[in-house]
Amino acid sequence: MDITLRQVSYAYAAGTPFEKRALHEVDLTIPTGSYQAIIGHTGSGKSTVLQHLNAILKPTAGTVTIGEKVIEAGVKPKELKSVRSRVGIVFQFPEHQLFEETVEKDIMFGPMNFGVPEEEARRRAHELVGLLGLPEGTLQKSPFDLSGGQMRRVAIAGVLAMDPDVLVLDEPTAGLDPRGRKEIMNLFARLHEEKNLTTILVTHSMEDAARYADRVAIMHSGRCVVEGTPQEVFAQDELLRDFRLELPQSVKLQREFETITGQAFPVLYLTEET
Ligand code: ADP
Repeated sequence: MDITLRQVSYAYAAGTPFEKRALHEVDLTIPTGSYQAIIGHTGSGKSTVLQHLNAILKPTAGTVTIGEKVIEAGVKPKELKSVRSRVGIVFQFPEHQLFEETVEKDIMFGPMNFGVPEEEARRRAHELVGLLGLPEGTLQKSPFDLSGGQMRRVAIAGVLAMDPDVLVLDEPTAGLDPRGRKEIMNLFARLHEEKNLTTILVTHSMEDAARYADRVAIMHSGRCVVEGTPQEVFAQDELLRDFRLELPQSVKLQREFETITGQAFPVLYLTEET
């Protein structure tokens, strides 16, 4: 399911004295099966873009196309329900949204709310705790008796239980220790590869973008200022400097030469995460 943003502009509190233009004519195409990173500083518009990816926000101008569905300013809310179940969003600190008595009920809540039969929802919950590396016994526990890292996995399982075509991740490793970060990022990489799940990662981390994504878009002041493969984008030193984005120590960009044509092309080398 491709997602396309065409000339998308968005203003919060449009038409009031508090109007705040957050996006300006953003163009971005995210093809089915890709792993797209969206990076940029705080306030650059990443979260606003993210909320357009499953129609939580509708563009003030321009169009967002999610699969067959075209979302523009006047679209009716009832037309958006099908989109919401196809695009799963793991919000920052998703564990704050856990609320049921047991982990099993929490994971089953989303699919049952969208009409999935109880038995199928339960089957998914059992499969997902395994996939996320949680012991089977976790299902009958209260989510509030788990560690922070386990709670995050349960919340992620709740999104995956909807069986989405597209998974959107908003800083999914915020607040985790390096080991927890790596485990979660490897899990998403596996899901992306094994299930060909279109993955969109919203992050501050150039390292995660370089390590996991096959496309990178940089947001700055509400605009998508550059988009391409990590190699193409991270080779633009001047542009990165202009936007105060710095490649971390663990990411090295080297220009190599094609033996026959002699043309230079950029290659990224990643050392082990520290
Ligand atoms: P990021 O996710 O990159 O930090 P955001 O999309 O949250 O950026 O913010 C883009 C701009 O929109 C910022 O200037 C921010 O202050 C503003 N903004 C975000 N949310 C709201 C809101 N609910 N009301 C008014 N302005 C907002």
